[in-house]
Amino acid sequence: MSSCSHAHATANEYAIEDRGRADPTQTTTDQRALSRWIRGRIGEVDAAIREKILEDDAFGMDDNAFSEWSGLSDAEKARRFDDWLERQIESTILTSEFEDKAERHLEHAVERGATDAHRELRDAGVDIGDPDETLAQDNVQEAIGLGVIALAGRVRSEMDDFRGDAREIITDGGLEVSRTQLASDIVERGQVYKSEVTADTAAEVVNQYNTTGQLSSYERVPDEVEVELNVEPEFRTAQDDRVCEQCQELAQRDWTLEDAQDFHIPRDTHPHCRCRWEVTDVRTLEDL
Ligand SMILES: [Zn+2]
Repeated sequence: MSSCSHAHATANEYAIEDRGRADPTQTTTDQRALSRWIRGRIGEVDAAIREKILEDDAFGMDDNAFSEWSGLSDAEKARRFDDWLERQIESTILTSEFEDKAERHLEHAVERGATDAHRELRDAGVDIGDPDETLAQDNVQEAIGLGVIALAGRVRSEMDDFRGDAREIITDGGLEVSRTQLASDIVERGQVYKSEVTADTAAEVVNQYNTTGQLSSYERVPDEVEVELNVEPEFRTAQDDRVCEQCQELAQRDWTLEDAQDFHIPRDTHPHCRCRWEVTDVRTLEDL
């Protein structure tokens, strides 16, 4: 069992659990907690799939005339299973608890982003008040809510792809094998989507840190103040100073707030990017 779960440790999960990698956004804890919670719920769906196939023998694979779907065509069985699986996904993963957890972790990432931005601005001589004031802004709360919806949409879309694969397995001779084989064929196929969900979750947390937390804070500087930014790239490990080439190049540019608003970390960078914005210079109109 343990060798089995090791074999399924994917690159996405490794990236998020890797303890040596430095995270300038300091949101790794939120990335891990939220993605582990979601993976746990997907694991519950996997368990329900096994139960449905193995214990209930819903497909009637052992010529059980009393099975839920016995007597139906393979295509119809696949359709019934798909409906059932969709309900499992909605009631197990995409629940109000999902919304609460996602909101809590995304809000925490925003709080960190705002706190870091406020501190850097203060160090540069611009006091925009307390980070809590940024956090309380309507547009910030709205952006967190939209982040929760966006993440739910991506999880649902990964799970839709999983359901499509499961249907295909069933109609492609999947019912000709043993129940054990069918259950593991379906659950194994889901691993890739579970892994994608991990990457989606990490990306939304980092997005909220940068786009909602930091950029919303910079927007609060008075009109006569111009903020210059940099990308602070993440280091591959805590011990060395290697960063990915793309982020290294971004770090060498000077960014105005307007440029930063048109650029999206991490959507425009790379999977598992933990780069962040940082204030490099602040100029008032009199200095120009
Ligand atoms: Zn990066």
